[in-house]
Amino acid sequence: MSDVEKARQLIHEAEVLTVLTGAGVSTPSGIPDYRSLTGVYHGLENPEYLLSHTCLMTEPDKFYNFNKSLYHPEAEPNVIHRKLKQLEADKTVNIITQNIDQLHHKAGSTNVVDFHGNLYDCYCTSCGASVPVEEYLESYWHHECGGLVRPNVVLYEEGLSQEAISRSVQMMTEAELVMIAGTSFQVVPFSTLIQYKRPDVPVVVVNREPIYLFEPHLMVTGSAEDFFEKL
Ligand SMILES: [Zn+2]
Repeated sequence: MSDVEKARQLIHEAEVLTVLTGAGVSTPSGIPDYRSLTGVYHGLENPEYLLSHTCLMTEPDKFYNFNKSLYHPEAEPNVIHRKLKQLEADKTVNIITQNIDQLHHKAGSTNVVDFHGNLYDCYCTSCGASVPVEEYLESYWHHECGGLVRPNVVLYEEGLSQEAISRSVQMMTEAELVMIAGTSFQVVPFSTLIQYKRPDVPVVVVNREPIYLFEPHLMVTGSAEDFFEKL
C-alpha cells in the first residue's frame, strides 16, 4: 500500500479527526501566502512590523494600508475546505487553522478554531463595538465614536486568545488521528500543539515539502489539493 493509500485509510477509519491547517490550504483559493517572499510582501517593509501592535498604534495608516491587502472577500472555499466539511458526515472533524481568511467557516465546517484570529471579525478599540468588515475596509475610524477599528487577529507582540488555546488543546487530546495540511509547521506556538495528542495517535502530514517533526508521522509530499481531490 502506498503512503497516500495508507493516509486515506487512516482518515476513513478515524472517528475523531483533528486537522491543523496553514497557508497551503488557502493558496488554491487565490489567497497568497503572506510569509512567502514571492507573495504580497515582496519589496515591502518588514512584514512582521507591518503586522505588529506597535505599527497599529503608532502608524495606523501604514498598518491599515498593508492590512487591507490581506483581504480577499471574493475568495471561495476550495476542494480541501469542502472535503473537510463532507467528512463530518461520518466522523467528528476538528480544525485548528493558522489562516485568518475564514474559508473553513465559509465551507460550513462545524468545529473550527481560528488560532490567529479572523480578518472578517472587526471591532473598535475604543468602545469595543463590533464593526462590519465592509465599514472597516472603507475607513479604520469608527464613525460612531472616532475610535480605531482593527481586525480581531493576533498581531506580532500580542498574545493568543486563551479560549483558542484551550479549545485547541481539547481538540488535540480527543483526536484519534492528527493531520497537518498545507503548512511547514514552523510557527510557534502553533507547532507546539502536537505535544497534546495522545502518544498512540498517528500523524499524517500533507505538504509540498517534508516538514521537520519530532513525532513519527506519515509524510505525503505533494499538493494538499490533489490529496483531498482524491479522498
Ligand atoms: Zn467605537
